[in-house]
Amino acid sequence: MNPKKMRIAVVGAGIGGLTIAIALKKHGIDCQVYEQTAELREVGAAVALSANAMRFYEKWGLGGEFDKVAYEVSALIYRDAKSGRVIGNHPAGAAYRERYGYRYIGIHRAELQKILFTEVGMENIHLNKCLSTIDDSGDCAVLHFKDGSSAEADLVIGADGARSKVRELMLGYDDYLYAGYTGFRGIVPIEKVPNLPDPTAIQIWMGDGCHIVHYPIGGARSGDVNFFLVQRDPTPWPHREWIAPAAEGEHLKFFSDWHPAILEMINSVTLDVRWAMNYRMMLGRWSKGRVTLLGDAAHAIVPHHGQGANQSIEDAVVLADCIADMGASSLSDMQKRYERLRHGRARKVVHASVTTGDMFHLPEGKNRDHRDARMGSKEAMGHHLDWIHGFDASNFAEPNDRQGGTWM
Ligand SMILES: Cc1cc2nc3c(=O)[nH]c(=O)nc-3n(C[C@H](O)[C@H](O)[C@H](O)COP(=O)(O)OP(=O)(O)OC[C@H]3O[C@@H](n4cnc5c(N)ncnc54)[C@H](O)[C@@H]3O)c2cc1C
Repeated sequence: MNPKKMRIAVVGAGIGGLTIAIALKKHGIDCQVYEQTAELREVGAAVALSANAMRFYEKWGLGGEFDKVAYEVSALIYRDAKSGRVIGNHPAGAAYRERYGYRYIGIHRAELQKILFTEVGMENIHLNKCLSTIDDSGDCAVLHFKDGSSAEADLVIGADGARSKVRELMLGYDDYLYAGYTGFRGIVPIEKVPNLPDPTAIQIWMGDGCHIVHYPIGGARSGDVNFFLVQRDPTPWPHREWIAPAAEGEHLKFFSDWHPAILEMINSVTLDVRWAMNYRMMLGRWSKGRVTLLGDAAHAIVPHHGQGANQSIEDAVVLADCIADMGASSLSDMQKRYERLRHGRARKVVHASVTTGDMFHLPEGKNRDHRDARMGSKEAMGHHLDWIHGFDASNFAEPNDRQGGTWM
């Protein structure tokens, strides 16, 4: 099948959906992106992008746009939650670039989305198109939207995130699972955290059953600090919705005796919403008929390695390469190739994200002492990060070649 003649529909104009639209465009292949929201405007949160994703945006000539709105983090620092003791301090900035070739940045999601949709071109993005069903029984797939409209496609890419409708349609049920953590997120003006040590770093403060990660963002709010507070509570999550209102002071349940700089940070914004962290099991296949999943729709993960968005970007690049490269092969062979190239890597990152959370949350004792010693070691941190941040998803060999880190 000639990919340039294929009608490709991408469901979701999030990080993965917009990235695959750009990647396809770089191959000279068109696609149409359908997004449920009326406006492309992610509010209230940021994201950290590591070298394994930034390499593609730089390669595509978007580095200058990131210069304007991203903040390159100065270090990766681990601390004890209560005393503030530094457990590990690993320089980022130039040292990180030297090691991995690209930047490690914090960026507001609205700014990231703006860079991406500008590059895609709004003429290819259809807003207010909430997918309700897909009919894949005829000569092509027909997407039906809640507003009553429809669109035809030869390939449907489900990039509709952790709450994926495309995945639900593919499986016939909604298979999300509560991961046992909840979180509160906020962005604090830098002047409100005068006692926060190393605000330009990405820092993880670790406590018994909970942690906080924070990093600076760039753009209009340059230097302001984005934080995400995580606790193993409650179990079970008592709501049907993924996000629920939080009572006043609820965020302090695990954190009231933490370091004063953290209390200063988390008490300086209103935290009245609590997020349940949910995930999806890895499926044997990410494709059925003319439909293929990527990003969170394929493998929603817990965010403890900061890799959900980065993995969506890797998926997007590889799927676009497989489409561009499909030559005379069938759609089904192309989908199988994409899955072969991505399954092992995604599965490994999913597992590492879970075990990283367990490591952050250790109670006092021998295991925590052992962890602290390892986190202080440059060599051990290399072992923890190199295989993720140093990975080039586009440099793939077929898995049985065992190259490119896919099966590490
Ligand atoms: C608190 C928190 C912090 C995080 N921090 C990081 C981090 O620092 N680094 C990192 O790499 N990852 C992080 N992640 C994970 C990251 O946000 C996700 O993994 C990433 O956004 C997934 O990208 P995606 O393209 O798959 O989905 P999304 O970016 O979620 O995009 C999905 C899109 O699909 C649209 N959509 C959904 N349903 C439909 C429908 N029926 N019809 C049409 N459109 C639809 C949505 O509106 C949305 O625009 C974090 C996650 C959380 C919760």
